[in-house]
Amino acid sequence: MCGIIGVENNDSAAVLTAAGLLTLQHRGEESAGITISGKEKMKTFKEMGLVSRIFNEETLNKLPGTAAIGHVRYTTSAKSSLTNAQPFQINCIHGNIAVAHNGNITNFFKIKHMLLKKGAIFSHTSDTEILLHLIAMSKGNLANIVADSIRKLEGAFSLVILKDKTLIGARDEHGFRPLALGKLDNSYILSSESAAIEVIGGTYLRDIDPGEIIVIENGRIKKSFFYKKPKEQSTCIFEQVYFSRSDSIMFGKSVKEARIKMGEYLACQMKNVKADIVMPVPDTGYFAALGFSRTSNIMFENGFVRNHYVGRSFIKPSQNLRDLTAKLKLRPIKEVVNGKKIVLVDDSIVRGTTSKRLIDILREAGAKKIHFALSCPAIISSCYYGIDTPNKEHLIAANKSIEEMRKYLDLDSLTFLSLDNLVKACSCDNKKEKLFCTSCFTGKYPTKISKERI
Ligand code: AMP
Repeated sequence: MCGIIGVENNDSAAVLTAAGLLTLQHRGEESAGITISGKEKMKTFKEMGLVSRIFNEETLNKLPGTAAIGHVRYTTSAKSSLTNAQPFQINCIHGNIAVAHNGNITNFFKIKHMLLKKGAIFSHTSDTEILLHLIAMSKGNLANIVADSIRKLEGAFSLVILKDKTLIGARDEHGFRPLALGKLDNSYILSSESAAIEVIGGTYLRDIDPGEIIVIENGRIKKSFFYKKPKEQSTCIFEQVYFSRSDSIMFGKSVKEARIKMGEYLACQMKNVKADIVMPVPDTGYFAALGFSRTSNIMFENGFVRNHYVGRSFIKPSQNLRDLTAKLKLRPIKEVVNGKKIVLVDDSIVRGTTSKRLIDILREAGAKKIHFALSCPAIISSCYYGIDTPNKEHLIAANKSIEEMRKYLDLDSLTFLSLDNLVKACSCDNKKEKLFCTSCFTGKYPTKISKERI
């Protein structure tokens, strides 16, 4: 997964972009980068690591300009390395152009093969590189170049593209990945999440529509058009479940509200369960647990202390360090859980390893009964549109029945939110709309997936 942002017509473009990237840090912790233009020659600065480590006064002072795009990366399709870090800046017949991409291009291998046959040279393993070649080979004005290039792509892409003072935003025809538009004084902002627009002082205006290209320059929307007739919308429902910040508006709905609703529906599904407390797994389980507690009238309790300083790769989990890793990140408060019948609420089970460790340490702290409630259905299929789900053989729900999972995780009960309830929770005005990609729960994909990827 990745986070992207673009800011134009602003003397503080680099600082605002860096602040936006900090807000989007949860979408990718492996690398971060900013490309700046509008004053001097286009320049890109990117490194491996966290935004706060890469961008400081010194590095930002070296990025003068009025328009910028930024990217944070969490590898899903290619190697995690500086060569694959974005934005990608190229110099081609159209001048200097930079691109930042969120999503996975599903016909990547087919297009790469076609380009290789034409003599193209590749230096990255990222799927975004094919877009750079397509841009370099297209003709016309910038908007036409972008439209012509992305018309050839299939799969998931939200893009911010920069050339001189022009900022372009685009979303694939299904709208898998988000892209929001905002305004800050005389500047427009594009961002994966509305929270980043608001954090930097802007106002969220709307989402870029599936299939839309928007061209922004000098604080004005120059043009907005559809590069292809939009297909039936398939926005990723996992954004609401897990990925997005709770203070974002995602596909027209507050993420916090959607998560509260997920918890309310879960409480209805589990109305026969008797428990003393409802406890979230921090942070994503928080609002679903709140919704559960309000509907069930079972007391909400915070039974975990989370250590925010534990990085993803602090310790590579080996058998004997498993408990240490789990306890370093989340530690149960014994006084809260000891002797209690608990409804534990989390967003999802992927491999099952995190849940197993959490439940083990809760039992160790004296939990009497654990009813595990998940605010989405069982994940049985990999994502080809940009969420990092492992291959099917590593997805616990693809290989075990719910009863087998319950036993393996040592639970008193295990309940997944039904797909119907999840769709209702994420839909606007409680209407059940066919707007979401739910392929990780159903195995039914809205686009063709080329064989090489499977
Ligand atoms: P596990 O079942 O051990 O693979 O871990 C599942 C937990 O990881 C969930 O409760 C989420 O909080 C989190 N999670 C879910 N999807 C992802 C993802 N694509 N990348 C990173 N973490 C995730």
